[in-house]
Formats: sequence, C-alpha cells, structure tokens
Amino acid sequence: TYVVTDACIRCKYMDCVEVCPVDCFYEGENMLVINPNECIDCGVCEPECPAEAILPDTESGLEKWLEVNSTYSAEWPNI
Ligand code: SF4
Repeated sequence: TYVVTDACIRCKYMDCVEVCPVDCFYEGENMLVINPNECIDCGVCEPECPAEAILPDTESGLEKWLEVNSTYSAEWPNI
C-alpha cells in the first residue's frame, strides 16, 4: 500500500485524489489518508503529489504513518 505522510498536512492539492483508480483517499481537517485495505498499489498518486507526501510502505520508518492512514481512513469521509 501507499501511505500519506506529514508533508500532506495543510497541503490539500488533491491531485492524488483525482488520479486514484479505486477512490481510496479519505479526508480529515488537515490532511488526507489512504485506506491500506483498498489501495491496489498502482503508484500513480505518488508523482502527482506536489508535497511528495505519498510514499510506498516498503520504505523504512513509515510504520507510524501506516497506522495513521489505517486508523483515520476508517473514520474520515471518502473523497
Ligand atoms: Fe490509489 Fe494507486 Fe495511490 Fe493506491 S497507489 S492510493 S490505488 S492511486
């Protein structure tokens, strides 16, 4: 799965949302998250993000952000 990290906070360009083929972005007040159960790992959102906030969870040190994406995608509205 891909995960949204802290560089997203207060960015809100939404370019990522427009390209996601499975609509698995969710929106909170300050940032977006990806539902890891719905993301199909296509990777098209990563280069679209002007803040470079979206990373594959295969990168090291992203455990905390994976948890954030997982938790909040269950609570926030789908966009
Ligand atoms: Fe959507 Fe693909 Fe990005 Fe996953 S990697 S959030 S499926 S655009």
